[in-house]
Amino acid sequence: MPKVLIVEDEEPVSLLLRYNLEAEGYEVEQAFRGDDAEIRLREVTPDLVLLDWMLPGLSGIELCRRLRARPETERVPIIMLTARGEESERVRGLGTGADDYIVKPFSVPEVVARIRAILRRAKPEVLSSVLALGDLELDRETHRVRRAGRELHLGPTEFKLLEFLMRSPGRVFSREQLLDGVWGHDVYVDERTVDVHVGRLRKVLNRTAKKDPIRTVRGAGYSFDDTFAKAG
Ligand code: CA
Repeated sequence: MPKVLIVEDEEPVSLLLRYNLEAEGYEVEQAFRGDDAEIRLREVTPDLVLLDWMLPGLSGIELCRRLRARPETERVPIIMLTARGEESERVRGLGTGADDYIVKPFSVPEVVARIRAILRRAKPEVLSSVLALGDLELDRETHRVRRAGRELHLGPTEFKLLEFLMRSPGRVFSREQLLDGVWGHDVYVDERTVDVHVGRLRKVLNRTAKKDPIRTVRGAGYSFDDTFAKAG
């Protein structure tokens, strides 16, 4: 999953971007102030930063300069968001180090397309449709799953469940979080349904292999075993 940090103080704009990027399969984090974003960027390095020009705390342009000056973030793709007429000319003229800029009000499909274009150039690996952990491979486009090269046949729910877990190896999800993430918020399903489907998923995954990639965490839920992820 490509990770995008949205730094934007206008909450509706930030939410609109978040909603649409998540629907496209991106993992999204938000910061509403420039100084908060700078602190966060010392802890995590996203695959791309969407950066508003006018921000409280620290301006987008200054944050962009600082990111370019640090070895850890000098290559992070940055798309600047600017208000029409005011800053766009200056962004172009000042050579901020941003990879691209988008003028507000923008069209969401355009933002999504620009993000994809930049990632394809800068980080093609994050757009791959294949999740590979240990000897397990899951292709999100063809919906094929292989273990040690052998094709496995999963039901649609088991496929979604596996994809969900494989996206965050090591992270423990409660049954409730799995229901939200795999079945969706609006569906009423008993939490025990999760156990049934995890059971079916395990049966297929482990039919011809010994090591179970799914970890049951007593009292907490399930996770994709990160030791399995590292083994391959
Ligand atoms: Ca702003």
